[in-house]
Amino acid sequence: MAAALALIVGLALAGCARRDAGPAKDAGAPARDAAVRVARDAAAPAVHRFQAQLMGTPWALAIVGDRGKAEAAAKAAFAEVARVEAVMSEWRPSSEVSRLNAAGGAPVTVSAELFDLLQRARDLGDRSGGAFDVTWAALRGVWDFDAGRVPAPDAVAAAQARIDYRRLTLDPAARTATLPAGMAVGLGGIAKGYGIDRAAAVLRARGFTAFLVDGGGDLYVAGEKAPGQPWTVGVQHPRRRDELMVALPVRDAAVVTSGDYERYFEAGGRRYHHIIDPRTGMPAERSVAVTVRAADATFADALATALFVMGPEAGIALAEALPGVDAAVLAADGRVVATPGLRAAFPARWQEAR
Ligand code: ADP
Ligand code: MG
Repeated sequence: MAAALALIVGLALAGCARRDAGPAKDAGAPARDAAVRVARDAAAPAVHRFQAQLMGTPWALAIVGDRGKAEAAAKAAFAEVARVEAVMSEWRPSSEVSRLNAAGGAPVTVSAELFDLLQRARDLGDRSGGAFDVTWAALRGVWDFDAGRVPAPDAVAAAQARIDYRRLTLDPAARTATLPAGMAVGLGGIAKGYGIDRAAAVLRARGFTAFLVDGGGDLYVAGEKAPGQPWTVGVQHPRRRDELMVALPVRDAAVVTSGDYERYFEAGGRRYHHIIDPRTGMPAERSVAVTVRAADATFADALATALFVMGPEAGIALAEALPGVDAAVLAADGRVVATPGLRAAFPARWQEAR
């Protein structure tokens, strides 16, 4: 543990926050192309941008189309994310998740939506050998990343004994969820991705086919910015926020990143971050950052968290077995391990950052 974490701190390595890299790639075009470019831009449909603060993070939408309709759609999409937050939040006593956590072992009837998400979380728990475990939340309050205090080992061990997603019972016929008393569910590793997918669904339902949904740097990208011009998703350097590590053209897919730099504190020269290895109750040690590209953001979000815990070998083996999924894991020892679809894009650039 000590050695691996010291390594993470010591390597000023790549990872990711992600954003639409915008038109920067056009910046160096030769002057003689300028007229052509202006003509094309004039014909290109307008991209409208909207922002909101939701789920404790900044959200942004970029929507191609009519300004008035885009504005109304953005409002509806943000309202949908706020609704999801009210259902899934572990912090709001009135949320469905809080009701489940407070039920003391009794079955709780939940919405079809929450039931489905819990089912998906359980499925990924199975596929990842327990690396993704929504009952990690037994440790909430033991690990307090805002207070920045390292908990006593016996407090971690006591809470860790109450982590096991297989003890979350889901009854599809009754649509109930049952959690043993003393256990808790926390959807921080999947709910944002679900919010992104819901926002995208709202935009699609209103007829938009070209847009980008950015939930705190996790993205879903639909269609193209302009005909023949894909959206470009920039992956930022984790330790040097203004540096772009890689720019990926993406269409009709989610790109989600998990890293040890999103929420962490340092104590005694070690970095303690918010992705927990359910087997130890301690911050996962094998990875610095993970990027996943998949068809939907819910799965990409949860999978990025799972792969982070699993580390490069087991994580990429799982990603390769999943159809339509690409992933890159930046390991604590500095290696980058990626599926074939991202191998060319990531390794060189991530290694350069050391
Ligand atoms: P971010 O929210 O920064 O994008 P992640 O998607 O990786 O990061 O989610 C991290 C969050 O997931 C933690 O803050 C916590 O709520 C939850 N979590 C932590 N460890 C696990 C785990 N092993 N399995 C499932 N959820 C986890
Ligand atoms: Mg996640």
